[in-house]
Amino acid sequence: MVLIFLLTEDVPVVYKEGQMKKKRGNKYLENYINGEMIGPESDTYIDNYNPATGAVYSFIPDSDKKDVAIAVKAADKAFNSWSQTPVDKRCRIMLRIADLIEQNLENLALAESIDNGKPLSLAKSIDIPRASANFRFFATGIMHFASESHIMENSAINYTNRKPLGVVGCISPWNLPLYLFTWKIAPAIATGNCVVAKPSEITPMTADLLSGICIEAGLPPGVLNIVHGYGHKVGKAITEHPKVKGISFTGGTKTGQEIAQVTAGTFKKLSLEMGGKNPNIIFADCNFDEMMRTTLRSSFSNQGQICLCGPRIFIEKPIYEKFKKEFVERTKKLKVGDPLSPKSRQGAVVSKEHFEKILYYIDLAKKEGGKILCGGKKATVTASRCKNGWFIEPTIIEGLPPKCRTNQEEIFGPVATIMPFERESEVIRYANSTPYGLSATIWTEDISKAHRTAALIEAGIIWVNCWLVRDLRTPFGGVKNSGMGREGGWEALRFFTEPQNVCVKLQ
Ligand code: NDP
Repeated sequence: MVLIFLLTEDVPVVYKEGQMKKKRGNKYLENYINGEMIGPESDTYIDNYNPATGAVYSFIPDSDKKDVAIAVKAADKAFNSWSQTPVDKRCRIMLRIADLIEQNLENLALAESIDNGKPLSLAKSIDIPRASANFRFFATGIMHFASESHIMENSAINYTNRKPLGVVGCISPWNLPLYLFTWKIAPAIATGNCVVAKPSEITPMTADLLSGICIEAGLPPGVLNIVHGYGHKVGKAITEHPKVKGISFTGGTKTGQEIAQVTAGTFKKLSLEMGGKNPNIIFADCNFDEMMRTTLRSSFSNQGQICLCGPRIFIEKPIYEKFKKEFVERTKKLKVGDPLSPKSRQGAVVSKEHFEKILYYIDLAKKEGGKILCGGKKATVTASRCKNGWFIEPTIIEGLPPKCRTNQEEIFGPVATIMPFERESEVIRYANSTPYGLSATIWTEDISKAHRTAALIEAGIIWVNCWLVRDLRTPFGGVKNSGMGREGGWEALRFFTEPQNVCVKLQ
């Protein structure tokens, strides 16, 4: 274990021993390009906030298209050698990265919690273990990835070569920073591509730490390049660059549309994972206790900032009042507090802008006739260091129709609405009424009803009697405005490769 973490004034920094120098000091993050940590060409930086305190605690390179051009050049140069590197060697390097993430779990989780505002316990149990699992999963997956052959009786044999695309772009959001960043990078490099990646400028810290880990693990220079900065500068430059052959993006639907427009004329391969407004359908014959425990999580985990959260809760009429009473009681007990305290179940939301957006939607819900059953405002947090942080009370709203704006637009915060229903056909109509189609949860002990409902819901991912149970081999993604393409398992390895058919005449 050669990595060193420093935690000075809230700034976790990891570097290989002997490399602990930064031109501007530890508070300044750097780009990871061609195997080196370097500042942006512009030499300008963006403030990075700690959402729990509302204070600036570090600075991010304000990179632009010049930095992206340098990164693409490095990736392009590395491509020939990396794509020819035997899969077992690629696998070994990626497993080293997975090991190093695991060994540095505590510090990476601390960095994620400080940077994002999420409870440290969540970063420790979900975000960082999953980042390591992503590398491990695709490192070993590539060892078993095979292509097809098609034999034409006595005349010819076809086989399919799956070739890496070349240089690819990976762009990720702020809600699950290292988790989603590595979910894209791992399959891209496993298949022999070289990557130019951009984390969200709102949560760049663990991507910066990943750079140090990749250096330590011996990832050859140029295979992964991380360029920090704004979406409209760095993200746009990646999507526009003619040498970038594919883009894997996760983020909002509007940004996904912009990327689709920018790339339309260039025929880049695109995978877009976008927003959601997922239904949570609760039938009266469900296992009530199990449903209630899970519904608290599916409504408010990560302050409701998970694309798979189910903020539209439909409850069958016979259990509506019972559900409402218990859900409100238990939500009131969710402790909102300093993300670094083990007692906190809810941390801060990610930014001031997002904080204001959520409060705007709570206000809109009231204007639309919604009744706030609990929460509905800024949360007061006892820790004095958090007095200027962006905390919101978990909020439950009733009395709104399924088609109002509150129930149609993505809020992406600790806000859930509850609505009664009477018939299966009615709830399916409600569930499908938004432009989104990422996931849905169904609660019932009647297996036929579960299958029937699942088949009729317009969503890429359905959970029956559970939520966020993830098998990395399964196809992941949404329909309608929630997504284009699928991630996960072979789907990801196929996305990052181009099939070439070779037909050989037998005689
Ligand atoms: P954004 O769409 O704002 O940003 C996502 C990423 O794209 C960021 O790195 C952003 O940079 C970058 N970006 C912004 N503009 C451009 C552009 N013009 N060209 C290229 N890249 C650009 O999403 P958020 O970060 O706000 O994340 C929240 C959203 O992500 C929610 O809608 C949520 O539903 C969705 N999401 C979807 C998931 C899924 O699997 N379907 C999973 C998780 C989240 P910058 O931060 O600098 O603006």
